[in-house]
Amino acid sequence: MGNTSAQERRMEKLGLKTPQDFILHLPLRYEDETRIDTVSSLVPGRWAQVEGDVLRCEVQGRPRRQLVATVADDTGEIGLRFLNFYPSQQRQLAVGTRVRVRGEPRGGLFGLEMVHPRVGSANKPLPQTLTPVYPITQGLPQATLRRAIGEALGEEPWHDTLPDEVRARFALADFDESIRALHYPTKASLPSLQSRTHAAWRRVKFDELLAQQLSLAVARAARRRRSAPVMPPHTGAQSLSERLRAMLPFTLSGAQRRVVGEIGADMAQAFPMQRLLQGDVGSGKTVVAALAAAQAVDNGYQAALMAPTELLAEQHLRKFSGWFEPLGIRIAWLSGSVGAKARREALAAIASGEAALAVGTQALIQDTVQFHRLGLAITDEQHRFGVGQRLALRQKGALAEEGGGVHQLMMSATPIPRTLAMTVFADLDVSEIDELPPGRTPIVTKLVDDVRRDEVIARIHHAVAEGRQAYWVCPLVEESEALELQTAVDTFERLRVALPGVRVGLVHGKLSSAEKATVMAGFQKGEVDLLVATTVIEVGVDVPNASLMVIEHAERFGLAQLHQLRGRVGRGTAESVCVLMYQTPLSRVAKARLRTLHESTDGFLIAERDLELRGPGEFLGVRQSGEALLRFADLQDDAGLAEEAREAAAWMLKEHRPAVRQHLARWLRGREDFLKA
Ligand code: ADP
Ligand code: MG
Repeated sequence: MGNTSAQERRMEKLGLKTPQDFILHLPLRYEDETRIDTVSSLVPGRWAQVEGDVLRCEVQGRPRRQLVATVADDTGEIGLRFLNFYPSQQRQLAVGTRVRVRGEPRGGLFGLEMVHPRVGSANKPLPQTLTPVYPITQGLPQATLRRAIGEALGEEPWHDTLPDEVRARFALADFDESIRALHYPTKASLPSLQSRTHAAWRRVKFDELLAQQLSLAVARAARRRRSAPVMPPHTGAQSLSERLRAMLPFTLSGAQRRVVGEIGADMAQAFPMQRLLQGDVGSGKTVVAALAAAQAVDNGYQAALMAPTELLAEQHLRKFSGWFEPLGIRIAWLSGSVGAKARREALAAIASGEAALAVGTQALIQDTVQFHRLGLAITDEQHRFGVGQRLALRQKGALAEEGGGVHQLMMSATPIPRTLAMTVFADLDVSEIDELPPGRTPIVTKLVDDVRRDEVIARIHHAVAEGRQAYWVCPLVEESEALELQTAVDTFERLRVALPGVRVGLVHGKLSSAEKATVMAGFQKGEVDLLVATTVIEVGVDVPNASLMVIEHAERFGLAQLHQLRGRVGRGTAESVCVLMYQTPLSRVAKARLRTLHESTDGFLIAERDLELRGPGEFLGVRQSGEALLRFADLQDDAGLAEEAREAAAWMLKEHRPAVRQHLARWLRGREDFLKA
């Protein structure tokens, strides 16, 4: 061994190493090569196989070098076109040869043609079963993969990981029969295979959903066995929690009180909390985090709050300082831009416990950071962090040496659709702030064609004249950061000219964090009326006096991002407006996105729509989403099956432990680390 071939490496790239991997690498679709279609029966876009004689074959030089041939059967002619070709292909298509051609016909300039069809000899017997088409990677031929899968399947039946009782109760097909039916399907089964309603598909999807349920249950049980500091709520008037509550300039909303209670109860347990705090933008998560931190401090522990960007972390620092420092609590600040001396001091304060709270960016999880007694780790915008980063923070916990954990609170303002949250984040308890603080007026969203830019500028003028502030978000330029920056600078200059008397500020990603902080502070204090920004302001920025948000080229942004941006306004009592400027023509998806935003300000509804438009893959970091575990089942389409799998999981955990282990061994495939986060 030791000598991996290029093909093996390609297969490894697909995650194919062990026989188990191969047998569960299932076809995307099937091609029916068992029959020959007549040329006259071809339909554009529908895969087909025809057989005929080569009438013409030539290399054309223009517009670019390509091989063009014509094949005819008794019913008609079809063109073949190869943009890249080998001499062997040219020989294969010598005039007069009888060939078998497979591919997807499309309407060409001179009738139907197939681009890059597969060409074979007409002498071979037709196959008896359908031909599976597998997900592949560049340079790996279907035939090679097919052979490897065939070898892995072997002759012996694969054992069934499900006890007979379980199979009978949920009317599940046999495992071995199912995978063979999927790899070597008969013609009769084609419709139900394609629609994925076939019993074999049902079995595979069930297995996958079951594995997910089992693995999450196992992770949950393991968490309950780990220790964590016990930090019950303190309610005495002298407790930090109560003094903090008393000094807040507002009363908590009902939803905030509820989630504070949920979090507080978790922290009182002797095993680590793992709770996701979800709440739409502006729902008031920060104060909830502060109350959790206060509870840790009341119990003699430290709390850390980590945010993904310097801007956001700084804002948390400002809020926390405002709340905690008057109460005599010291906060250490750590970020990439903290100078050596300040950093040393912060590290010392964290290590001695003098600083009960630490706020910062990823700098908080570096090796040099040693906490005196960390009891609670809070991450904001949790989806922006990788599993590894969250684990690293956890490992700094007070009980880490005895293998204990730390209580974790993860906040997310990018609402995870309920359907995803329920099924994917099973080892995450979810608290939801489903109500905005009182006194907010809803944001009005307007869609405005870019040609009406002057009206938008007039609107800004008007808002500023009334003492309000506004944001102007510059277009996203995906291809080039430099261009994006240039656009922001140009916009800034133009708006300054167009709006005399208006104090305009500019903030973008290329500014140092000190410069950014200065601009932001100016905006916060009302010294800047209009803040021109790139998407750096996307998350978390909180300036209640800002009531107008203009987003240029809104069609280039994703739904979630637009919702986040829009959430920067509507934080005070003034009526807020979000103007989405777009440039025509709009794609279908862009139209759907803008319409959704126009119609709704409900983050959860928007998230659901986003899920529909984009699919779950992009939603969260793949590793955190658990989507990686679901290759075959679909959380929406297979909701009923997921419910059955949940039931089966509970039963197996109680009565069939050995089967649980076997089933996980087959399905987990080295993705166990996902469970640890
Ligand atoms: P997010 O959930 O988006 O992080 P923030 O925590 O930044 O929201 O809160 C948004 C704004 O609402 C802040 O200015 C905050 O002080 C304010 N706020 C939070 N809770 C309340 C409340 N119960 N009543 C009034 N204002 C509140
Ligand atoms: Mg926030």
